[in-house]
Amino acid sequence: TSEAPALELRNVNASYGTTTVLRDVSLSVAPGSVTALIGPNGAGKTTSLRVASGLMRPTGGQVLVDGVDVTRSSAARRAKGGMCHVPEGRGVYRNLTVRENLLMQATSSSPKETIEIAASVFPRLGERLTQKAGTLSGGEQQMLALSAAYVANPKLVLVDEPSLGLAPIIVDLVFDFLKTLREKNVALLLVDQYALRTLAIADHAYVLRRGEIAYDGDAAGLLQGNMFEKYIGEG
Ligand code: ATP
Repeated sequence: TSEAPALELRNVNASYGTTTVLRDVSLSVAPGSVTALIGPNGAGKTTSLRVASGLMRPTGGQVLVDGVDVTRSSAARRAKGGMCHVPEGRGVYRNLTVRENLLMQATSSSPKETIEIAASVFPRLGERLTQKAGTLSGGEQQMLALSAAYVANPKLVLVDEPSLGLAPIIVDLVFDFLKTLREKNVALLLVDQYALRTLAIADHAYVLRRGEIAYDGDAAGLLQGNMFEKYIGEG
């Protein structure tokens, strides 16, 4: 018996006004697995995540979570059902403290437990609980945004460009964190500019090009022979 995917986009079309940005996109994320979504700027990666989490309605096709059609359900409802979308650009409340941000993200009714979990994953956050999120460094804000993927206890996490604009040492921390998610058996759909590092932690990969799926296969397959140059390399 095959388990339903944690997430499936089925023949999705999406557009901004009259501009079509996703054409017949089908992709799925197996339960407890890591799926990479890569492709050049403007290919439609962010739009795919927005359609998946319900921030944007597709003009055609379906979104399924655990085999259930959620195309018409709101982002809030999908979040309650165990989906966590960490958007590009650090979705934190700048005027709230680190502690308050964590408590807003949390599903546990125990504030103490929430804070302990976050501090164990990102010790730096534990040291800055009373600081306003807007005064954190970019890397710390990204850690705070990512900690939702822990304290909200999701089954499915969508992460958009978590390493964008971060110093290399913080990028390492981000990828370590993504690996711990993988060990927790969370299903993860990951978009990141570092294609090699993303593929290294992924089971399955999709390459999106101009709104269409150009590659659908093993992440490792993209690292063999001339596949990387063909699908991802410049030129
Ligand atoms: P990036 O890495 O640059 O974010 P992406 O692969 O995530 O790229 P999207 O952000 O999904 O791509 O954008 C896909 C296309 O849709 C691009 O051509 C972009 O210019 C266009 N687009 C994105 N947002 C809007 C918007 N709000 N209004 C109009 N066009 C948009």
